[in-house]
Amino acid sequence: MLINGYKVEVELARDWIKENRVKRVLVQAPPGLRNVAGKLVEELSSNLEEILLHGGGCWGGCDLAVAHARAIGAGGIIHLGHARFLDEDPMPVLYLECRRADPEPLLRSLERGMSVLDGHRRIGLGMTVQWLDHLEQAKLLLKGCGVITLTGPPTRPLRYEGQVLGCAYQPLLQLSNKIDGYLVIGSRFHGLGLGLQTEKPTYYLDPELGVLDGLYAEVERLLRSRYGYIERAQEARKMGIIVSIKPGQLRMQCAMKLKRLLEGAGRRAEILIMDDVSMEMLRDSGLEAFINTACPRLSIEDQARIELPLLLPAEALIMLGRARWGEVVRSPRYLAMEV
Ligand code: SF4
Repeated sequence: MLINGYKVEVELARDWIKENRVKRVLVQAPPGLRNVAGKLVEELSSNLEEILLHGGGCWGGCDLAVAHARAIGAGGIIHLGHARFLDEDPMPVLYLECRRADPEPLLRSLERGMSVLDGHRRIGLGMTVQWLDHLEQAKLLLKGCGVITLTGPPTRPLRYEGQVLGCAYQPLLQLSNKIDGYLVIGSRFHGLGLGLQTEKPTYYLDPELGVLDGLYAEVERLLRSRYGYIERAQEARKMGIIVSIKPGQLRMQCAMKLKRLLEGAGRRAEILIMDDVSMEMLRDSGLEAFINTACPRLSIEDQARIELPLLLPAEALIMLGRARWGEVVRSPRYLAMEV
């Protein structure tokens, strides 16, 4: 069924409800797809005794509202807009991906912005799951303009050839020796995650905004500011280590290891257990700096919302003298959520 321009497999949802014999379901949707979720609830209400909308954050397939679903006695979750993330779900979960039906916005903006890619002959191409049905058309269009595209095979947590997430680009990064640049189709956010992990020129295409642009200057500016936060965190004596209970972001071992490293370096370290990571709560904690083991993009996108350093694990290692800045930035180690 087509809902607001997205293909939504409503029949699949009906079958899933029957097969799992769920009576009460919690529906989760990210910002931008809440209207689609509302329409889906209308469609499914005759198949279920109770279908409830989740009102909290929903930022990726990592972000399953399991705790909320259990608290209300739901038998399962319908998670809209993201591909499967975890290999095994803690309760019945149906991922309804919501792919864009119309390739026009993508193809039109690619055609119009193509000159930005001048000089590149072989590029690594990645896309968010919303646009993946149009991967072959995008490749053909680029080929017609003399640009060969390469995509890598799906590598967990990615499920499809050509797919990217804001924290997962492994197949593209492995193509590094074979290409002279990268193009990520989806948004600036998705391009930036790759640009921070590679020396290769990285571009993004946002089909909704009709923008195709390079990210080099933005990555440079961001990295300079990240270095400043690492220097500021050197001064902190009391640090917080953020752990989120979101199933795909829960990294307790990494947090425990960081705590030991900080304490070994003579600092006080508290582990903070959170669901959505609230900057207001962090500010209120009395701690002087934080290390984020949840979604890596919080340290990039949300840093400006809090004056205190919100370091990535790799940045914490640099702060502690256990890794070197030059070896970590613009490499896959930068967003790796492990120590
Ligand atoms: S961890 Fe962050 S970037 Fe990765 S899928 Fe989840 S919300 Fe997106």
